[in-house]
Amino acid sequence: MKRILTDFLSLFYPRACICCNRTLLSKEEYICMHCRLDFPLTNFSVVGDNPLRRHLLTIENLDYVFAYLKYVRHGAAQKILHELKYRDQKGLGIMMGQWLGYYILEKAEMLDIDLIIPIPLHKSKLRKRGYNQSALIAEGLSKSLGINWEGNILERKVYTSTQTKKGKTDRWVNVDNIFQKSNNKDIKNQHILLIDDVITTGATIESAAKILTESGVGKISIACIATGQQ
Ligand SMILES: [Zn+2]
Repeated sequence: MKRILTDFLSLFYPRACICCNRTLLSKEEYICMHCRLDFPLTNFSVVGDNPLRRHLLTIENLDYVFAYLKYVRHGAAQKILHELKYRDQKGLGIMMGQWLGYYILEKAEMLDIDLIIPIPLHKSKLRKRGYNQSALIAEGLSKSLGINWEGNILERKVYTSTQTKKGKTDRWVNVDNIFQKSNNKDIKNQHILLIDDVITTGATIESAAKILTESGVGKISIACIATGQQ
């Protein structure tokens, strides 16, 4: 019944794929099957070396590093992340997190992760946007991996402009100490999976990892929807 209703409503309010604008079928959400099959996958290995890992130079206890899509100008990942950040598409964030999880499971069956933590937004940015896109990704990832997530362990204490617009030369300039631990939850010896929507230079995620390391975590793994490192 729900499906008939959805089909009926779509006659008047066609839902379009955010990547290619094709009208979505009733079972599709946000992204059509054609675009999903055509996703610019990184094909990175989860365990061991990959191009993103080579940019994360300062994380001592780094375990695995994973990115789902290649980030290129006007590409699918850019469109998805734009919708997610600026168009209030919360369900899209959860769906992409779930898909990221399925892709990770295709690449690595055994994951010994204890907790998923998203990179936080500064509270004034959170107030303005109404949600943290990385927390939505963490929520979706939690569903597909069956691992808990918590969004209030790290806090962003410094308001920074969008890191994706910055070049490599800014790498060390304003990302040091931008996070702090925001509660007393004991995460000692745990294996943490840190989540960001997009990783470019890696400086932001390194800064967050530093706080986790100082808090005594055992291992840190990283996953993101997209990366410019290919
Ligand atoms: Zn499409």
